[in-house]
Amino acid sequence: MSATYNFCAGPAMLPQPVMQKAQEELLDWNGQGVSVMEVSHRSKEFIALTQQAEADIRELMNIPSNYHVLFMHGGGRGQFAAVVNNLLGEQGKALYLVDGSWSSSAVDEAKKLAGDEQIDTLNIIEKTHGVSRVVLPELSELKQEYRYLHYCPNETVDGIEIFEEINSPWPIVADMSSNIMSREIDVSRYGLIYAGAQKNIGPSGLSIVIVRDDLLEYPQLPQASIMDYRLAVKHDSMFNTPPTFAWYLAAEVFKWLKVQGGVAEVAKTNARKAEMLYDFIDSCDFYENRVAKDNRSRMNVTFYLKDESLNEQFLAQAKAAGLVALKGHRSVGGMRASLYNAMPLTGVEALVSFMKDFANGNA
Ligand code: PMP
Repeated sequence: MSATYNFCAGPAMLPQPVMQKAQEELLDWNGQGVSVMEVSHRSKEFIALTQQAEADIRELMNIPSNYHVLFMHGGGRGQFAAVVNNLLGEQGKALYLVDGSWSSSAVDEAKKLAGDEQIDTLNIIEKTHGVSRVVLPELSELKQEYRYLHYCPNETVDGIEIFEEINSPWPIVADMSSNIMSREIDVSRYGLIYAGAQKNIGPSGLSIVIVRDDLLEYPQLPQASIMDYRLAVKHDSMFNTPPTFAWYLAAEVFKWLKVQGGVAEVAKTNARKAEMLYDFIDSCDFYENRVAKDNRSRMNVTFYLKDESLNEQFLAQAKAAGLVALKGHRSVGGMRASLYNAMPLTGVEALVSFMKDFANGNA
């Protein structure tokens, strides 16, 4: 069978060596004769795994010692709620920047939990001639006290990424579900970073939270204990039974990333992959991308066939060629190729070659 390249936005492809190792170890993990799914999360072997995972993510992201790393339940949306319940209290206000569909969903959840008066929003997308661009506001001019500023640096559905560092007078909370560890960032600029695991880290359901210790002093709203950051810190992310298999796979992905040379190295490949695809789209009249060049996501490349009546044919032929899950999100249509860390350059080469042939065959 020839290679299948999976461009799914999430759950997304995981590195093949990691999947192979998981397969080999499925019935016998760590010489124990049972699967990692079947051992106690409190066993010394599993705790060693979690300690290694934490040490590896700290090294990969260069996380300062005054930050906690939590492995929690509930994916990205779980954190839409947890952020509010852990950081806002009864009186606090928060500012949410909106640059696409996930930041907008985060606002809906925040308003549901805290009420409209506690949540301010700013739309930071400008659309000219159908092209979206991020325009960051001068935040220091806002005369308001916020507990935190929330934003989403990579909008998975819209294919919009913010590469600029945001200057905020308030602690920054960032939803990095779809671009965590895809390029280097300075963690010390953030109050809290969270990510659902199913793109660059591992299976869905798990979420990673990186939180500066002073934010744990903030007043809370009532919430489920399993979503409480303080309890998670106190119990080493094991207040209740954690998603152990997802944690194991995440730990293997971190090891794999280190073998690749770490985040700085995969970032170079990610830049090349995205550039190759965008350059081709720009050079070919048959396709178009609708995001300003500076805000084009390296993780989620959205594009449209100019003749949309060919969409189904494009998807069917791509699938037959082993290029799967290219359909854009139902809310925006078109196509989307997600190029997370695990997608090799050869996958993007195969996609470009297919797109070229499809354009030539249908011009
Ligand atoms: N935020 C972003 C940026 C996402 O891409 C996603 C999922 N695609 C979510 C949040 C929601 O994640 P989950 O489905 O794990 O709740």
